[in-house]
Amino acid sequence: MIDCLFCKIVAGEIPADIVYENEFTLAFRDINPQAPTHVLVIPRRHIATINDLAGDETSLVGEMFLTAKEVAHMEGIADEGYRTVMNCNRAAGQTVFHIHLHVLGGRDLNWPPG
Ligand code: 5GP
Ligand code: ZN
Repeated sequence: MIDCLFCKIVAGEIPADIVYENEFTLAFRDINPQAPTHVLVIPRRHIATINDLAGDETSLVGEMFLTAKEVAHMEGIADEGYRTVMNCNRAAGQTVFHIHLHVLGGRDLNWPPG
């Protein structure tokens, strides 16, 4: 996707503080962190929103959660606790239209979220 910010990060055209990567996913620090740990996990493949997920992309979504788990361990927040969030479309506040799992931790998180 030519005009996608996160595709440009995957391609190395825009710098990012990458904390983990593998064949399927990339994890990098959010530029505007909302918690001591705030990492975004994205698939290398462009998918705009959860609504655009295809039936054969179930394992890719699973890979995103395995990466989130890996990041949580690396950041030392796995045992204390952390949150994974994926916003879909306007009402949920999605601003970048390449799916991403927020991994938030390092402080007590409120529930319900705003
Ligand atoms: P959304 O609101 O779509 O769920 O989340 C998008 C996230 O991407 C936001 O938390 C925002 O701070 C982050 N973000 C936006 N532009 C950049 C960027 O250029 N680099 C990084 N690392 N994060 C970004
Ligand atoms: Zn993209």
